[in-house]
This record gives sequence, structure tokens and C-alpha cells, in this order.
Amino acid sequence: MTDHATADHTDTAQTSDLTGSCLCGAVTINISETPKRIGLCHCLDCRKHHGAAFYAAAVFEREQVDVGGTTHSYQGRHFCPTCGSSVYAISGAEIEVHLGALDRANQWRPNYELWCKNREDWLGDIAKCVRWQENRPAQH
Ligand SMILES: [Zn+2]
Ligand SMILES: [Zn+2]
Repeated sequence: MTDHATADHTDTAQTSDLTGSCLCGAVTINISETPKRIGLCHCLDCRKHHGAAFYAAAVFEREQVDVGGTTHSYQGRHFCPTCGSSVYAISGAEIEVHLGALDRANQWRPNYELWCKNREDWLGDIAKCVRWQENRPAQH
């Protein structure tokens, strides 16, 4: 455990083979690495893409995640063409795996939040989560 959350540290050290998929199962995800960071995003693009009040994803180097099946994409956001589930996003050399696509809950805790100026008022505080009003400051 770290006693302070930063953008590039994960709260949990354990790694296990994790699987995920879209709702119909045609697109699959296999992960055997620890995420670089786990973030929530409240920006309007993420909200609209997911149809959800916020976006949650674990970020990896692209080659650290095995993706099976065929996706369609819109502005780097990849979804299953059959069932429409949004499974992951590609941003530069990174892949953002949506926490909701994982087969098991409670694998990782978010350690940062972006675009908090759009954050829902009813959403409670999340422990050890750094908040930014807009984008994450450039740091790797
Ligand atoms: Zn599907
Ligand atoms: Zn966003």
C-alpha cells in the first residue's frame, strides 16, 4: 500500500490473470499486468460515450493487454459492433481497459479523477483519489 495516491502508482500490488469482455462475449480482454494507474473521468465525452455518469478505467501499456475479437471504434474508444459494449480505449501508447468490462469487481481502486468540474454532486468522496478539475497534468 502506498500512503499517497499519485497518477502513476497503483494502490494494490497484487497481480493475477484477469479477464473481461463485452456483454455478448465477442470481444475479450486478458490482463496479466498491474495497471500503471486507475482513473475516473467525468468529462462530457466519456459520459456520453458510456451513457454513464462517469468513466472508470485501468491504464496499461498497449502491449500488456491481449484483446480478442473485432471492435469498432470512435475517436479511440473501442466497442463491440454486436452488443455495443464499450470495452477499452486507445490513447497513444496506452490502453485504457474499462473497469466495467472486467469479469470480477473490486480488482483495483481508482487513484485519480479527471474533469471533476463535471463531477456529479451525489457522488461521494473516493479515498486516496487525486482530483483534477480538468485533464491530468502531463507526467509519466
Ligand atoms: Zn459484444
Ligand atoms: Zn473523459
